[in-house]
Amino acid sequence: MCGIVGYVGKRDAIPVLVEGLHRLEYRGYDSAGLAVLHRGRLAVTKTSGRVQDLRDKVAATASGKASSGKGSGKGSIGIGHTRWATHGEPNEINAHPHTDTAGRVAIVHNGIIENAEQLREQLTASGVKLVSDTDTEALAHLIAAELTGDDSMSLEDAVVRVLGAVEGAYGLVVLDTKHPDQLVVARNGSPIVLGVGENEMFVASDVSALVRYTRQVIYLEDGEVATIRANDFHSTSLNGAAAGEKTPMLVDADALDYELGEFSDYMSKEIHEQPDALRRALMGRLDERFATARLGGINLDARQLRAIRQVKFLGCGSAYYAGQMGAHLVEELARIPADAEPASEFRYRSPVVDPDTLYVAVSQSGETSDTLMAVQELKRKGGQVIGAVNVVGSAIGRECGHGIFLHAGPEVSVASTKALTNMAVNFALLALLLGRVRDLSAAHGERIVEGLRNLPDQVGRILAAEAEIASVAAQFAGAERMFFIGRVRGWPVAREGAQKLKEISYVHAEAYQAGELKHGPLALISPEMPSVVLIPSDDLVAKNISTIEQIKARGGPVIAVTSADLPEGLADAVISVPKAEPELEPILFNIPLQMLAYHAAAKLGRDIDKPRNLAKSVTVE
Ligand code: GLU
Repeated sequence: MCGIVGYVGKRDAIPVLVEGLHRLEYRGYDSAGLAVLHRGRLAVTKTSGRVQDLRDKVAATASGKASSGKGSGKGSIGIGHTRWATHGEPNEINAHPHTDTAGRVAIVHNGIIENAEQLREQLTASGVKLVSDTDTEALAHLIAAELTGDDSMSLEDAVVRVLGAVEGAYGLVVLDTKHPDQLVVARNGSPIVLGVGENEMFVASDVSALVRYTRQVIYLEDGEVATIRANDFHSTSLNGAAAGEKTPMLVDADALDYELGEFSDYMSKEIHEQPDALRRALMGRLDERFATARLGGINLDARQLRAIRQVKFLGCGSAYYAGQMGAHLVEELARIPADAEPASEFRYRSPVVDPDTLYVAVSQSGETSDTLMAVQELKRKGGQVIGAVNVVGSAIGRECGHGIFLHAGPEVSVASTKALTNMAVNFALLALLLGRVRDLSAAHGERIVEGLRNLPDQVGRILAAEAEIASVAAQFAGAERMFFIGRVRGWPVAREGAQKLKEISYVHAEAYQAGELKHGPLALISPEMPSVVLIPSDDLVAKNISTIEQIKARGGPVIAVTSADLPEGLADAVISVPKAEPELEPILFNIPLQMLAYHAAAKLGRDIDKPRNLAKSVTVE
């Protein structure tokens, strides 16, 4: 959701900024812009379109300047932004960067300034003309006002003073024409990461914008401000306390992870990366000797694990559904109560925090605002919380201190695939670990270890059947609405399948528990309403077959996704899933549902990696 890039060094800043913004496009945005310092003045370019449009615009300006003999507009310090509008329409004026009236200071900002109206009124009353509708613009005027007339004031001090009067969430970067060698960055609730190069420094809201240039990164903490120059940086806390010394860490991704290679989009690439992602998640974590799992990152010994009376998963969207899969696994393998709740609800409902419950905060990016807030609420109330995140150094990972690293590798597509699968498999490891310090027998543990080991190849087999799944998707892609039906283990998978179809194909999909159909939704069954019914090979197969019969009796088309042997002709289409340990089958059942959604969206001509209205990591409320 929205993106920031900044550069200070020796290179021409514009290509670096445009490339960085291009790498952030997947996060979702509605407009874009950049500003560079050129011969002591700000050169600002904005568009209400895509980053490519911005690229064309700066190229046109550069060639115009060259032909008019005024130079190419090169500058070696600059800032760029992809906006996800919260205040004011997504048009060119509201696009960032914003500047003060004199064009001295430029700012890019992710997040929401909650007292923006009040700040705007103050500025208007003092005679400032605001040109945009954004909350951000006020900051540019306020920072410039602090600086004007006081040459001894550092840019950082001016930013800190202004932020003292600001309520809300931000990640921001400020460029001042009178401090041409530096950028000031600050973070409160929106991620900011610094990239350390050789005599150059980068800033971004996400490492994907940096890895082409450097893998040495520093994550800014919430409540920190930093001044960065080509050769150095220092950070302090906004409230005046000195921040600890920061040493760069090596980010575990490189530019190639963000290349499409042979694939036409990231979702397809990431679906196909799942066998490898699973292997990474399992590597070194299966303990054959004791038929258990190793999860050193959670930092709990056997006694502490045994003291856990309940497990609760908190996440949003797919991470919530993965948590629900995790809760099933924990109950089945460890026989302790477990459930999942959307973090967005949890944080607002004054939860009863139980000290004997293990809370698991689940987030691919590790930056999901609702989940981060839930973690903070939990910590305030003495809850024991671990993170399950895919980005090392992310806010949730740091806030929790301990946790499970998902090892899915960078996930670019908005619709989560490999991260979700790795969440589920990591929760199976957690459930196994919790089970083996309780009642789970060694023999059962061994079956689970073996079952986990088989998963990557089994996923590979499902992927190999892509053509058949694509033809089923094509057959049903024209439907306006669909049901996804699951029972017990299949239920969270059905929810995730429905969500995936909705987000990328815009087909209305609803998930129902199989047993609930007859209590209402059966009224909707008709030849126009296909149902995807999940039938794992557990002891509920007969029940699920009768669900299919109920749907068929009312003329509803059925796509059966199954690892069981179904009677011939029962469903209109059958997608087969390899048999696995029953507890682990939900992990496999996700895969064909991802492919169904993908191919339905492809058939409908959707922009698969950038579904409308959605963003990759939701860092605002
Ligand atoms: N609130 C700011 C705006 O509407 C920033 C939005 C963003 O995070 O991109 O301009």
